[in-house]
Amino acid sequence: MNKIYLSNTITKKKEEFIPIKKNRVGFYSCGPTVYAYPHIGNMRTYIMNDILKRTFVFNGYIVKHIMNITDVGHLTSDADSGEDKLEKAKLKEKKSAWDIAKYYTDIFKDYSNQLNILPPTKYVRATDCIKQQIKLVKILDKKGYIYKTKDGMYFDTSKLKDYGKLSGQDLKSLKAGARIDMADKKNPTDFSVWKFSPENSQRDMEWKSPWGIGFPGWHLECSVISTKYLSQPFDIHTGGIEHIPIHHTNEIAQSEAAYGKKMANYWIHFEHLIMREAKMSKSSGDSITLNNLKEKNINPLALRYLTLQTHYSKHLEFSWDSLNAAYIAYNKLGNKLSTFDNNGTVNMKYINKFNSVINDDINTPQALAIIWTIMKDDNIKDEDKKATIYSIDNVLGLNLEMYEVPEIPTNIIELADKRWQAKKNKEWDIADNLRKEIFSKGYTIKDLADKYIIIAND
Ligand code: AMP
Ligand code: ZN
Repeated sequence: MNKIYLSNTITKKKEEFIPIKKNRVGFYSCGPTVYAYPHIGNMRTYIMNDILKRTFVFNGYIVKHIMNITDVGHLTSDADSGEDKLEKAKLKEKKSAWDIAKYYTDIFKDYSNQLNILPPTKYVRATDCIKQQIKLVKILDKKGYIYKTKDGMYFDTSKLKDYGKLSGQDLKSLKAGARIDMADKKNPTDFSVWKFSPENSQRDMEWKSPWGIGFPGWHLECSVISTKYLSQPFDIHTGGIEHIPIHHTNEIAQSEAAYGKKMANYWIHFEHLIMREAKMSKSSGDSITLNNLKEKNINPLALRYLTLQTHYSKHLEFSWDSLNAAYIAYNKLGNKLSTFDNNGTVNMKYINKFNSVINDDINTPQALAIIWTIMKDDNIKDEDKKATIYSIDNVLGLNLEMYEVPEIPTNIIELADKRWQAKKNKEWDIADNLRKEIFSKGYTIKDLADKYIIIAND
C-alpha cells in the first residue's frame, strides 16, 4: 500500500498515516449544526473531508466514516454562553426546534449530494444519544472531574495535566486568552457537560438527568458518538480550524479523562473560506449558500473545483470572480472530455504521479495541475486521457463522467439581447462593453447575418 502523509494538528508534524487496523480507517467528522442553511465555507470543510476520505478509498482502505448532526447544545458562543442555536432559530422561524433540526438536516444532505460528497457510513444525531451522553458525564463525575455551578455541570480543566495539548497552549495561556464570562466557573477554560434548563423554560429539547432537567454540553456528543461507533482510540478526527482551541480540545479532555486512553491518532483541520478577510459565518447573515449559486446559474460543482485550487491548510478567499473562473475551467474540462471516445486505457505514469501528490497531505492544487498536464500531453490518445482523468476524479469528485453541458444562463441571454439591441441602435460602445462583460462571464457572442449565437468560451 502506498504511504499517505497528513499534517497532524496534535503532533504539529506532517506524518505517515499508520492505521490502527490494517487496511481500515476509523474516520470521524464533526457534522453541521442544523439551525440555518449551510454556507459555502461550511461546505468547503465537507468537500475536503470527502476528498480526504476518497483518498483513503483510492489507496485501498475500507473507511468507516461517522458524522454527528448537532441538533442540540451548540450555544451562540462556542464558549458556553448565549442561547442554544436551535432554540434561537425556532423563535425566529416559528417552528419547533425539532422541525428546525429536521429541515436543516435535510438541506445539509441535499447540499452534500449536489456537491458530490459521499454520505458517511452513518449520520448520528446528538439527540439520539442523550442516554450515552449522561452516562459519560456520570463516569466523569465518579472520577472527580465535574462540579456544579448555577447554570450547569462543568468539567474542571485544571485536573488534566495535558489540557490544551491540541492547540499547543498550556492552561495558563489558554486562561489568559479566554474571553469568557466566568460566571461561577473555577477556570475560564472549564466547559459545561450538562446545562440546566432555565426556570420556566420554553425549550423544546430538554431531558431529565441525575443533575437536573437540561441538555448536554455541545462537546459531549462527539466524544460519545465517536467512541460508540469507532471505539477509542480511532484513526482520524476532522473539522474546521476554529474547533482546535475549544470544541476538539474539550472532546479530548472528556474522552481521555473518562477512558484513560488517547481519543484519536490524527487530527486534521481545514482552514476557512473567507470573504474580505473575514471568516464566513452562518450567524453573521452575510453568508452565501448553494441556493445563491443556483440563482446565478452556477453548478455547485464549480465550488468543488474552486475548493480544489487551494490547499486545505490555507484560507480560501472567495469572490464571485474566482468562482466564475472556476466554473469556466470546470466546463472547459467537462466539455472537452465528453467529446473524447470511451474505452481508453488508464495511463499509469500519470496515476502514480497523481497518487503521490494526493497522498502528500492531500495536495489538491497539484492534483488539478496534473489533470491539465494530461489534457495537454500530445503523446497520449484522447480516449486514454479521458480514462485517466475519470480515474483521478474518483478522488477529486468533480463527477466528470456525468458532466452535462450547462444551459446558457438567463443573465447571459439577457445581456446578449441588450447587446443586440444596442448594436441595432448603432450604440457601438455599449454593445462592445456588453460583449466584453459577456466574455468575462465565460461566453462569446458570434454575430451571423441577421442573428447571433452564444457559445461557451473555449
Ligand atoms: P457548524 O454547522 O457551524 O457546526 O459548522 C460546520 C463545519 O463548518 C465545522 O466543521 C466548522 O469548522 C466549519 N466551518 C465553519 N465556518 C467555516 C468557514 N468559513 N470556512 C470553512 N469551514 C467552516
Ligand atoms: Zn465535534
